[in-house]
Amino acid sequence: MPLLIRDGEIVTADARYHADIYVESETITRIGENFEAPPEAEVIDASGKYVFPGFIDPHVHIYLPFMATFAKDTHETASIAALIGGTTTYIEMCCPSRLDDALEGYHLWRSKAEGNSACDYTFHMAVSKYIGETEKQLREIVRDGVTSFKVFLAYKNFFGIDDGELYRTLTLARKLGVIVTAHCENAELVAQLQQDLLSAGKTGPEWHEPSRPESVEAEGTHHFATFLENTGATGYVVHLSCESALKAALAAKERGVKISIESVIPHFLLDKTHAERPGVEGMKHVMSPPLREKRNQGVLWNALNAGLIDTAGTDHCPFDTEQKLLGRDSFTQIPNGIPGIEERVNLLFTYGVQRGKLDLHRFVEAASTRAAKLFGLFPAKGTIAVGSDADLVIYDPSYRGVLSAATQHVNNDYNGFECFPIEGRPSAVTVRGKVQVRDGAFVGERARGRFLRREPAHF
Ligand SMILES: [Zn+2]
Repeated sequence: MPLLIRDGEIVTADARYHADIYVESETITRIGENFEAPPEAEVIDASGKYVFPGFIDPHVHIYLPFMATFAKDTHETASIAALIGGTTTYIEMCCPSRLDDALEGYHLWRSKAEGNSACDYTFHMAVSKYIGETEKQLREIVRDGVTSFKVFLAYKNFFGIDDGELYRTLTLARKLGVIVTAHCENAELVAQLQQDLLSAGKTGPEWHEPSRPESVEAEGTHHFATFLENTGATGYVVHLSCESALKAALAAKERGVKISIESVIPHFLLDKTHAERPGVEGMKHVMSPPLREKRNQGVLWNALNAGLIDTAGTDHCPFDTEQKLLGRDSFTQIPNGIPGIEERVNLLFTYGVQRGKLDLHRFVEAASTRAAKLFGLFPAKGTIAVGSDADLVIYDPSYRGVLSAATQHVNNDYNGFECFPIEGRPSAVTVRGKVQVRDGAFVGERARGRFLRREPAHF
């Protein structure tokens, strides 16, 4: 069925104008004024609303065996939550551990998503070891359309790789034109500091941050940049949390290293005092890198607005209260992660755009367009143009609401942003021309989502 979106204010990374959008067979076919709707067309009145390109979350975890348990979401729950929040595409971290076979892991992650996601999706392929068959396996995965890798400089002996493996991964990535995303913390320092704290009887969630201080992240970031510099590979720092790591990444950028930067929504809005709350309340806010001193938040917002931080993702990773309590005797056993897939866009809009900290075009770019360009999805995704996929968010900036676990769609029993007011939300969301969300409710097809095959783009 054709779709006509009438009289909205279209906002992309570089344009803003009033127009109608006409959609046929999943694609935007016309943009103009005063279109007549044929009788069979579905019509959405977007007057008084923004029309944004579908938002892209470049960093989520859905299926994840981690720290003796599994993250709570399925693709069904995560994709519906994503869509209600305006995210029409997500990139999941495919994370087999060091003990697993990479190719088997890839097929396992693919099978979890296939036919179960209501929004479009793709993967970053984790390289958690580099052994004999790794090159052949990674080449096969890249041929299959997964053209970004993930490496962990943290999580020693589980996801983490050593420097030799990092070098070989980056060298292969450069040959294949693949971008490498990286969790940047010095694994050895984390392990040593954890032991020192535990030996001193410091076991609560408030000791998680001191076990991986800002300097440990700054070192990891500099370390990754140095390896990029010496291999010529293209890199992307995930979930950068603090000023010192930002300085390390920007210094690398200035000397010509091909490095982009992602920060994630918790670090813009929450600080280390959340993890210092007693008992399970603190554990709910344990993630890595940890929540930092509040002074970092202004730095991150300014860098995001200036485009120095490229993207704003989530690192969505839900563990419920019972799972968090696995760490009741030691902060090192608290499953790391916090949900955010449903809240990211509304929080960025409210606390960025509505508060004057984030330009409206930069908002679209940071939450959609830049990720589409970096990860080979543009211009099908990330913009509103004739020929692009009709992933559209009709957004109501006059909506007022409050975030709460009681009303969320993510499969979890708490919300990391409980009681945060929001000023704006999607009033309709489409995936390739199909209306999937209206006014906060999922109304679409549960298996609408498609695996997005991508071409290597970083030669
Ligand atoms: Zn992650």
